[in-house]
Amino acid sequence: MPTSSNQLPIAAALATARDTRTVLCERAALAAVDRVFAEQFGDRAARIVADARTFAAAGEAVVAHLRRAGRAVHEPVLFPAAPVLHAGFQHVQTLETELGRTDAIPIAVGAGTINDLTKLATHRLGRPYLAVATAASMDGYAASGAAITRDGVKQTFPCPAPRAVLADLDVLAAAPPDLTASGYGDLAGKITAGADWLIADALGLEPIDSAIWAMVQIPLRELLAHPERLVAGDPAAVARLFAGLITTGLAMQATGSSRPASGSEHQFSHLWEMRGLAHGGQEISHGFKVGIGSLAVTGLYESLLRTPLADVDVAAICAAWPSIAEAERVVRREFANPALAERAVAEVRAKHPTSEQLAVRLRLLRNLWPDLRTRLRDQLLPATELQRLLAAAGCPTDPAAIGLTDADLRRSYATARLIRRRYTVLDLAAETDVLASGVKELFQADGYWARIRARAHSAISA
Ligand SMILES: [Zn+2]
Repeated sequence: MPTSSNQLPIAAALATARDTRTVLCERAALAAVDRVFAEQFGDRAARIVADARTFAAAGEAVVAHLRRAGRAVHEPVLFPAAPVLHAGFQHVQTLETELGRTDAIPIAVGAGTINDLTKLATHRLGRPYLAVATAASMDGYAASGAAITRDGVKQTFPCPAPRAVLADLDVLAAAPPDLTASGYGDLAGKITAGADWLIADALGLEPIDSAIWAMVQIPLRELLAHPERLVAGDPAAVARLFAGLITTGLAMQATGSSRPASGSEHQFSHLWEMRGLAHGGQEISHGFKVGIGSLAVTGLYESLLRTPLADVDVAAICAAWPSIAEAERVVRREFANPALAERAVAEVRAKHPTSEQLAVRLRLLRNLWPDLRTRLRDQLLPATELQRLLAAAGCPTDPAAIGLTDADLRRSYATARLIRRRYTVLDLAAETDVLASGVKELFQADGYWARIRARAHSAISA
């Protein structure tokens, strides 16, 4: 039975979108590519952008369907399968030159990297494009902005999302299992991202948009509920995962911010990505890093929720609070790469409060903590449950499985918040002076991480 996008929570999200007009997510959706293309672009010629793998997975079929419908299809722009394609700015320039040779509408056939490269290159050409998803591997298909590395620094370049997204469930279900698992890890990260938004909202730093919140958070637990069906390759399960990811992308598109999708778990992931985290010579996928990041953050939340923050000693904390100059010195010590250090300094400057501002914030927190704590408890999944779900989806849950030592992970709790100005639980813990003690507790011999690791191993040997 075809699973069509109108049975999924996509339609309402689409109504809020600024750039994307159509999302078609169903079985055999590739057969509809010419119809979707014609609705958006009339009789314009088409041109595929893909790599060798994604061209084989869906690109060839897209070309065949378009040609059969009588459409002009120009020579595809193909990146080689190896080495692994990165979203580097040099590829954007190559793509922009190549696509500029004709006036065809580009069709990005691929996942995160192909989509990001095409998104920015077509924007620079002033042209819209169509995205054909080849894996439910991340939430960026319908997001505006392209994550591109330039001069060694990954940054989000503002640019519109694709005009239309086509996702063929048979193609998604046949994608390498690690890609689907990675998409699950990225979606699971919306739990802690939501918790972080609750904190920023309560402290008056970034108000929650209730319609956007509902789009992402209301269906989330149900969409995460049956990871074993994903592993079995059930197209209906892949449809639910894709629906969660695309809806999150549309939420980012509607707000013009990644706040609905990304909190401290993504700060961990971005930090590890900057550091080139790898395991056994293999790069670690975004969703796998987000999954471990979510476990890291959930552990910190569990410690924080046991802490009586309504009793914090405002005067003592503010007396010891570092000045902006001291905070800047810490950042410069932490990042050896000068370009990264400059960016981190700018991010920290944007959010580091003066001790007077901190005093106001902490007095507010003392009043609202009992209520906020209840809402955070309701939002979060218990770590044991989060770990069970991630493992059942095929995501690693032992930090060592993504190449992290205990020392790396421990240090990441202090460093992750320095790379983005977004206010998260890491900032709350730092500003209430419980970050260092909370993290120490997580790494005790019988502490949180010891229990997570033991469960990760018993799951593998079971
Ligand atoms: Zn993500």
